[in-house]
Amino acid sequence: MAIISSKKQPQEPEGQPQEHQRLKKGVNSSPQPPPAQNLLQPQAAADELLKQEESIRPQRFADYIGQKDLKDVLDIAIKAAKVRGETLDHLLLYGPPGLGKTTMSLILAAEMGVECKITSAPALERPRDIVGLLMNLQPGDILFIDEIHRLSRMTEEILYPAMEDYRLDITIGKGSSAKTRSLPLPRFTLVGATTRMGALTSPLRDRFGLIQRLRFYEPDELSQIVLRTAQVLQTALTDDGAEEIARRSRGTPRIANRLLKRVRDYAQVKVSGPITQSVAAEALELFQVDPCGLDWTDRRMLSVMIEQFNGGPVGLETMAAATGEDTQTIEEVYEPYLMQISYLQRTPRGRVATPAAYKHLGFTPPNEQLSLIL
Ligand code: ADP
Repeated sequence: MAIISSKKQPQEPEGQPQEHQRLKKGVNSSPQPPPAQNLLQPQAAADELLKQEESIRPQRFADYIGQKDLKDVLDIAIKAAKVRGETLDHLLLYGPPGLGKTTMSLILAAEMGVECKITSAPALERPRDIVGLLMNLQPGDILFIDEIHRLSRMTEEILYPAMEDYRLDITIGKGSSAKTRSLPLPRFTLVGATTRMGALTSPLRDRFGLIQRLRFYEPDELSQIVLRTAQVLQTALTDDGAEEIARRSRGTPRIANRLLKRVRDYAQVKVSGPITQSVAAEALELFQVDPCGLDWTDRRMLSVMIEQFNGGPVGLETMAAATGEDTQTIEEVYEPYLMQISYLQRTPRGRVATPAAYKHLGFTPPNEQLSLIL
């Protein structure tokens, strides 16, 4: 599975920062991102696509922590499909990267006792790429297409009859002598994953029988995930150590597992004994992972809003120029988490930093500034 990051080099924001009331020194608003930037990216890093990474991926429903609503819906769908001896309905999973879309697809295949073939839209550029995959499917198989909103139009059009009637329409020849032939396909389940539900065309969206959203995980769910991963990695981790890692993981299992591995390295070299809360905190401070899981770009976005625009409203384009990120990455990767922890609000007039964001970055929120003056 290829996940393409749209990361760009950060640029200097336009204009000079205005003077602003800042209580705490040492807030990182330098134009250079620190090393935590990569640790806190929700997209899979190259080494996380390797085979050994699969050992920490849950294999069965019981090990898939959190996402109760999703599991309830899918549990019923699996049971009903099994009773009727049918394949599962086509399923669309949407939500930010690293929340478990691929994992859920693999679990569905394991529960149904079928194969899961994994691909992503950028790998299906030519019509023959999708044709090859469809023709190799066995009855009941799951075909997982990541970043499905990026499918080319031609590939999408091949998928429509395949999803609806399990039929492959192929055009042979060119121009006036071109002929269309239909080939039957085995019944299969398409699982599409996307971070951008709104970018899907409606004919494609309408062909999914089940559409499910994945949510950010609560800290206690992430604690359970890192405790489970620690067990798989045979690493001693205390409950409070797991909680410390969970708090800094941006609600994302992929990041939680990544932070656990870095803390494990630290513990192996620096301390003897299990990873406790203080060991985890020390290690994550060293890697400059913020106590709330904010990375350089999050902090930069919030501090630009506060320092240059009195907390907002600020337009998306301005934020993009200030951080050197593209607007799409800001909307899909950064803002959902900042909104989740109530540091940012999207309003019709632009983005607004909340009092909690002011406090986290060491600024005085506007309403408190007034009471300081009076
Ligand atoms: P996505 O496809 O949404 O980008 P993945 O399914 O690849 O995310 O998940 C990233 C990693 O996070 C997986 O390797 C898995 O170990 C872990 N993970 C994801 N969801 C869960 C979960 N619900 N319970 C336990 N681990 C999870």
